Amino acid sequence: MYANVSMGLVRSADGTPEYFVALIQDISERKRAEEKLRLLSSAVEQSTEGLAIVDLEGTIMYTNRVFARMHGHEPDEITGKHLGVFHTPEQMPTIESAIARTKGKGEFDGEINHARKDGSIFPGLMQCSLLRDDNEKAIGIIGALRDITNIKRSEMALQKAHQALAVKAAELEGANEELSEYAHVVAHDLKAPLRAIHNYADLLRDDLAASLHPPQRECLEGLCRAARQGNELVDDLLELTRIDGSSAQIEKIDMQAFLRDFFNSMDLPADVDVVVQQEWPALEAEETLLRQILQNLISNAVKFNTKSPKRIELGCQTRNVDDVETYEIFVRDNGIGIDPTYHEQIFRVFERLHSLQEYEGTGIGLAIVKKAVATLEGSIRVESEPGQGSTFYISLPKSHWPA
Ligand code: ADP
Repeated sequence: MYANVSMGLVRSADGTPEYFVALIQDISERKRAEEKLRLLSSAVEQSTEGLAIVDLEGTIMYTNRVFARMHGHEPDEITGKHLGVFHTPEQMPTIESAIARTKGKGEFDGEINHARKDGSIFPGLMQCSLLRDDNEKAIGIIGALRDITNIKRSEMALQKAHQALAVKAAELEGANEELSEYAHVVAHDLKAPLRAIHNYADLLRDDLAASLHPPQRECLEGLCRAARQGNELVDDLLELTRIDGSSAQIEKIDMQAFLRDFFNSMDLPADVDVVVQQEWPALEAEETLLRQILQNLISNAVKFNTKSPKRIELGCQTRNVDDVETYEIFVRDNGIGIDPTYHEQIFRVFERLHSLQEYEGTGIGLAIVKKAVATLEGSIRVESEPGQGSTFYISLPKSHWPA
């Protein structure tokens, strides 16, 4: 307990000291209040944040050292001045409206530029609140200020990096489009001469079949084969370049009807068993692209397969891919399988794991599938081991539209 003690000496009429009178006053409460005030004032003074108190007209009543020095001042030289000393005349309307907002709503939060004594400017994050006395009467505004120069610099750098990235992406997209157009034109222009070579070679072979020696017949056979492969390559390239990677006419597809149609139009060899899942959800896709995807996957499942019977399973399941609910179509075969080393590579144009003598093809089928899947905003992966068959999985978003 803290006490205030006052003592007085009481004397008799002739001046002889008789006794003391002591007044002891308990001042613990006042002491505690003083200590609290001292603590608060050193906290404010030593805070690493710039703190200032102004009256309701904007006259500076107090600033801590950090606040004053942020502006290149000493606290004593600015007390009593208007807070306009921290701002350029052009900023004053903003300051006035910040004061009005604080008075009206009780607080204000915002980025405001501040001026140093030497005239240089720095961006600050200002948080103000209304100061009230014990009777709730507004008596001033307390503001905390943080210099956000570094944050602003990082923001600018990030923004610049974003802009540069966007420019690069646009350039890349342009270059890609140009390349695709180029491939399209070349493939288109090669189509007619290749078809003519193929037809002429066919005619020659039929007309001269009887009179040719075996080596000559072999030459002509080779010419026909090469021309046919050239034709297939050009057709596949044209199919690939025709897929417009940027847009698809997405619609809900009744999969039962679609698959019935699809398998009716596919001419599968007799030794192929196809097992199709009974129940299918309505998929959001474009029919043409879905047909291209399944056609390529199923013809590969038949081609790269030495079993008898060749077995193909087709189904659909739900799967969460990167937090997006998807329908995942799978195409499973009991074929030759694929070494995991090549699981990425096979989706690139012209990538083949076998010679033309082993398995015919152009190496474009899976590139078509990948581009079609990407156009439908989906993704593709494969699970396979040599000799164990392969399963291709295509994930398509359950919904392309917000709920
Ligand atoms: P292509 O079928 O014309 O060779 P693709 O782009 O369709 O070209 O396939 C690329 C390669 O991936 C094929 O050459 C083959 O080696 C491999 N591949 C694709 N599908 C299968 C499959 N179902 N089973 C085994 N290998 C496959």
